[in-house]
Amino acid sequence: MTQLRRSERLKARIGRPIAPEAASMPVVTLDQLSLETPTHFETGCQPWATPFHSFIHQAALLRDPDAPQKPFHLYSRLPLEIQWMIVEACDATTLFNLMQVSSSIRIRAKPLFWSHSSVWYYADINDLPLHKRQGADKGFDYDFLRQVEQVELVLDDLECWYDYFLTPEMAQDSRNVVDTAEIFWRAFHFTFPCVQRIMFSSPWEALPSGDINFSTLLRVAPKHISITWCMDLQPRLSPAPRRLDRYEWRANVAWVLTDHCWNRHRVFAPKHKVRGPVGKFQRWDWLEKELKTSTTGLRYLRAEAYENYRFGGQRNLPFTCPSPNCQETFERAGEYGAHYHDQLANGKVHDEWWNVAYGEGQIKGLSPSGLLPEEVEKYLERLEQRHNEERNRLAELFAELTLDWGEKGSATRAAYEQEFCAQLKYDRIYRCGDDDPKELQQWRRLKHRMHLAIIERGE
Ligand SMILES: [Zn+2]
Repeated sequence: MTQLRRSERLKARIGRPIAPEAASMPVVTLDQLSLETPTHFETGCQPWATPFHSFIHQAALLRDPDAPQKPFHLYSRLPLEIQWMIVEACDATTLFNLMQVSSSIRIRAKPLFWSHSSVWYYADINDLPLHKRQGADKGFDYDFLRQVEQVELVLDDLECWYDYFLTPEMAQDSRNVVDTAEIFWRAFHFTFPCVQRIMFSSPWEALPSGDINFSTLLRVAPKHISITWCMDLQPRLSPAPRRLDRYEWRANVAWVLTDHCWNRHRVFAPKHKVRGPVGKFQRWDWLEKELKTSTTGLRYLRAEAYENYRFGGQRNLPFTCPSPNCQETFERAGEYGAHYHDQLANGKVHDEWWNVAYGEGQIKGLSPSGLLPEEVEKYLERLEQRHNEERNRLAELFAELTLDWGEKGSATRAAYEQEFCAQLKYDRIYRCGDDDPKELQQWRRLKHRMHLAIIERGE
């Protein structure tokens, strides 16, 4: 089915001329499209956030995605003023790399990475250290977390912090809310000593106005931290970008609505460095999860790009669904996004131009030609290319793991098990003391994942 036939059909249906396709379509820059869909998310599933390494490659922080990466060995010999001019013109990726080698650049660039107003680092209650166990669930790099100034703390429910921090010594009947709240803030400060702004959110809760325990938590919060609550305005399963109402906790008494239809980037801090057999497994496990969420994110991002192109700014270019077996037409913003999401949620393929070939480890985001301006298409392709490279890396890691894991009952398997468990027992990251390493989540997850993977390969 050609674009021309589609246009004619649409014209007949809506009874007025529509913009001719391809050649005479307007040129719109990536910036003008103001894309907001995160590149990593899962519909209806928490937690999601964009991994930091991926986020620094995205438009939100990129001044010029096409800027060549120049070597900087002469940089430090330039006059200071010129050094700053260069820093300000850098794209995010270059800047982040420079930060690793120069403390003066680090100071200058810090706000961009740790206190950027639209960037909120994800945390949930399991990421705060607890008397019972050590280490963050998601393996975030503690050195990085210590620099972060804005955190979104996602709560399962309003009581979860209370249940989590209640010490075993406190009997049920002598629960002390103030004590527990103070333990919470100590643990929070330990992990995030630089935080200036905390935003609470919950996929399941509305604005927590009547909850006494939660207001106690807010009341004893350190004075220098500003507290907000954000609430999703869309049904839980609706597609990103999310639209939020944001409330500020004022004078310890009330929530005041400060932003309507607000959006933010939610980012996962980088992972800490891991090593040994456990580390290799974790890298594979983390990467696999990331790729699942980016498969969803990148598809929705493309759908958003297409819709914004047609209906963003002053443009009003109705169109027919680009899916070849669909006749649906769209005359205003929002219709295509909702339609696309409905179709996917009902298990219908609705972006056939994506060659999602998991077996070969590649996805290819070929939209029908001429749908998007070249610059936008290039940007999306670059993100998709990165996704494919990561997919290749995942396959390589898995091949290595399979070799390490060996056959059931083999000497290889026995040696691997022994080495894996020894690391869980003695490595300071996992140190399980007298506990059985096979009770640790890393071992259980390894067994579960290897078992599943072997079934999937039909062995
Ligand atoms: Zn359709």
